[in-house]
Amino acid sequence: MTVKTLPTQPKVGMVSLGCPKALVDSERILTKLRSDGYGLSADYAGADVVLVNTCGFLDSAKEESLEAIGEAMAENGRVIVTGCMGNEADVIRARFPNVLAVTGAHQYEQVVDAVHEAAPATQGPFVDLVPEGGLKLTPRHYSYLKISEGCNHSCSFCIIPDIRGKLVSRRIDAVLREAEKLVSAGTKELLVISQDTSAYGVDTRHDARMWKDREVRAHMTDLARELGQLRTSDDRAPWVRLHYVYPYPHVDQVIPLMAEGLLTPYLDIPFQHASPKVLKLMKRPANEAKVLDRLKNWRAIAPDIAIRSSFVVGFPGETEEDFQYLLNWLDEAQLDRVGAFRFEPVEGAQANNLPDPVPEEVKEERYQRIMQKTAEISAAKQAAKIGRTLPVIIDEVGEPDEDGSMGATGRSQADAPEIDGHVYLRDVPADLQAGDIIDVQIEDADEHDLFGVKAS
Ligand code: SF4
Repeated sequence: MTVKTLPTQPKVGMVSLGCPKALVDSERILTKLRSDGYGLSADYAGADVVLVNTCGFLDSAKEESLEAIGEAMAENGRVIVTGCMGNEADVIRARFPNVLAVTGAHQYEQVVDAVHEAAPATQGPFVDLVPEGGLKLTPRHYSYLKISEGCNHSCSFCIIPDIRGKLVSRRIDAVLREAEKLVSAGTKELLVISQDTSAYGVDTRHDARMWKDREVRAHMTDLARELGQLRTSDDRAPWVRLHYVYPYPHVDQVIPLMAEGLLTPYLDIPFQHASPKVLKLMKRPANEAKVLDRLKNWRAIAPDIAIRSSFVVGFPGETEEDFQYLLNWLDEAQLDRVGAFRFEPVEGAQANNLPDPVPEEVKEERYQRIMQKTAEISAAKQAAKIGRTLPVIIDEVGEPDEDGSMGATGRSQADAPEIDGHVYLRDVPADLQAGDIIDVQIEDADEHDLFGVKAS
């Protein structure tokens, strides 16, 4: 009997920078390459070619991307660049003339072709290389679900529509099939992402498709309702979080789904500022007073809702009065999670042509003040959770220490991975695993994190 020896397949290394949407692009590229027979290398030395998936959103992100390319060139030398900064091939080639190829954002085919050219793989039908649900760069128990590409807005500080183009929504049945595969492959938490999640389906007039025995529209509300009806291996609804939700009025429709347990009581909704004047300059919806009323209504419908938002400080034309208006608004809004950014004049952004730029030292001072304000609000909200029992998803279980007791790290429904706080547990049972969802008695809190023990 002749024993067939499997050909040694070339290996690919991946450096994935930027936002969760870019991470999903990296996962898709690696899944395609894996199904083409490529291996994956966890370090530069073992890679026949290295992919750098860049970010081009801010100048600081571009600098980080160029540093990453430089490191890959120095450590490996066979480098293919892709992602949002890939649109500036001339800048990259000027700095690194020997990169093998440069492609733009979500140009999967071009990237895969470039890898095949740089490190040809010999096809082999022998082994099934791709796990159910594709290759993932996140832990098994949570997954990003990208529902569309691009954006139809023109916020004056943002160049994403120039990089990623107009809104292109995926078919609802394709999104639900992917979600179902992920959940059956062990995902307990789905993070719905795009540039503009609440505009899902606008470009296709919310076209309807058959899913199971019913028609479902490509619409954020229908999507959320359907995702909440999936079932995990332990027959629970998966946690479903909506991210990058533009504050349209129809966002109100998803809040009742949280009260029904179909949607995790969590909303990532960037407001960017509160001063009507600054919001107009940003070309963002300027109805901040209405927003405060809506927040009140949402909390009446879903009392446990956690609201995450992000703000830009130091925007051209922002006065001390505008900034103070924002701080006062935050006192009223009482947001649970806040990310803040110092305005950066990214090349190509309309805002760069606005008068009255804010000096760097003033920008920095305002950044420190908003971070302090939101930390105070967060600390009070966290302290109010002491004594409560909350569901927590386990991310990591620690090693037993000398007396055999073990700790674990998890997140409550108010904590999305990578961007929010954690729940630190003591004395966890020996059979606890990453991905388990358990009830936790909260014993203590600090500005962003909670501490507790498994509820008996
Ligand atoms: S909605 Fe978001 S992605 Fe779209 S232009 Fe505005 S900031 Fe950029």
